[in-house]
Amino acid sequence: MPQQDDATNTFRDRLYTIDENGKRLWVYAKKPKGSLTTARNVVGLLLTCFFLVAPFIKIHGQQFLLFNFLSRQFVVFGVQFWPQDFHLFFIGMIALIVSILLFTATYGRLWCGWACPQTVFTELIFRKIEYWIDGDIHKQKQLAAQPMNAGKLLRKIIKHGIFYTVSFIISNYFLMYIIGSDAWTQLVTDDPSHHIAGLSIMVIFSFVFYFIFSWFREQVCTIVCPYGRLQGVLLDDATVVISYDYIRGEERAPLRKNEERKTSGKGDCIDCHQCVLVCPTGIDIRNGTQLECINCACCIDACNDIMKRNDFPPGLIRYASEKMIADRKPWRFSIRSGAYTFVLCALLVAFGFFLVTRNPVEATVMRSPGMLYQDQGNGKISNLYDIKIVNKTNIDLPIEIRLLSQKGEVKIIGNDPVIKKQTVGEAVFFIFLDHSQITGSNMEMDIGVFSGGKKLDQTRATFVGPEK
Ligand code: SF4
Ligand code: SF4
Repeated sequence: MPQQDDATNTFRDRLYTIDENGKRLWVYAKKPKGSLTTARNVVGLLLTCFFLVAPFIKIHGQQFLLFNFLSRQFVVFGVQFWPQDFHLFFIGMIALIVSILLFTATYGRLWCGWACPQTVFTELIFRKIEYWIDGDIHKQKQLAAQPMNAGKLLRKIIKHGIFYTVSFIISNYFLMYIIGSDAWTQLVTDDPSHHIAGLSIMVIFSFVFYFIFSWFREQVCTIVCPYGRLQGVLLDDATVVISYDYIRGEERAPLRKNEERKTSGKGDCIDCHQCVLVCPTGIDIRNGTQLECINCACCIDACNDIMKRNDFPPGLIRYASEKMIADRKPWRFSIRSGAYTFVLCALLVAFGFFLVTRNPVEATVMRSPGMLYQDQGNGKISNLYDIKIVNKTNIDLPIEIRLLSQKGEVKIIGNDPVIKKQTVGEAVFFIFLDHSQITGSNMEMDIGVFSGGKKLDQTRATFVGPEK
């Protein structure tokens, strides 16, 4: 890290985007260009396409990704998870957290710069619209300094109109990931008076997204995002982040014509501030790794361009760890990263095992509440039961209930149930047992759930009878 004395270390005391009075300082970021920016644009475009297409991809009738918190229905890659699969969800969540820790400890905020929806939407859609309408950094600053006139007002109306439209589209897609694309289609094609709540949520979401992407922007990453706030504990000196090579760059000084840079004792940084101008969070990466840096790599492209123009080698700002810069050594996989990888692999294996071996049908049997046993008067005793069956398969299942541990009779009230695919079905049934079969007043029994003669699940229930 560049050595700074206490007097010059004040950048650690405050956010770049907030002044001494707590007022927001707007970041006018210069339009970035370069190989990493191009690569990020391609990645962002692919991710945006995926975001727009995924709600319409169906696997065995299931939406590819669905996170319906309201009805507790979760579908990941076409596989539906039920509340009964909580252990899977739990392991999956732990694996996700560990993978985030691993990734961050090893590769820093790669996620933030390349794949986070906040960055992708802000930098690759909204800021591009801004460049297109308001121009690059200098034009934007000029426009902001101008008093309001017809031209400026028109630009603002067009820009914010487009911003709101894009926010509205994003909010609609967001809704599709929560309620499903079929329910969304119904919401927008049906009589609006039947969907006041749904349509209101859609409009509220649109304004929230509009606020975030048109105004709040980098503040989400620096103030709100918990992942961003955790960087201080996740990163160490072996983590690869966007780094300024202060050994090579210092003493920074403007470039003078025909000067012999090496022999003059100056470093490769010509103090041109291009890396600061392109930064969407407004920081100076030459001060070292900072909370606000989202690893977008724009400063790498900007600096490489300056290096190239002045016949200096590229990489004064590059992906590197503090150790790599200080010790001038190549990147090495740290012990901490190895430990995280091991734990992550173990969790993924456990997750895969539970996923593959999970029961496609799950039954729960309970004695009907408030009912005692019934003496049928023919030497038989009966109990009444409620059964709940989760059918996680993609076919409708005609269900048959059998008593496994005793000889007795099962009688379903009404027709034999058919549990529709990917639903939960319920039925009520009696179990009749001879007195001779009853061994106690609270007797445990095994009950099997069958379909087409094949046992799908087995569960336990209590049979209540007279004292023996
Ligand atoms: S310092 Fe560089 S990588 Fe970090 S946010 Fe600014 S431009 Fe992006
Ligand atoms: S772009 Fe490179 S040369 Fe210019 S100020 Fe930043 S680090 Fe120094």
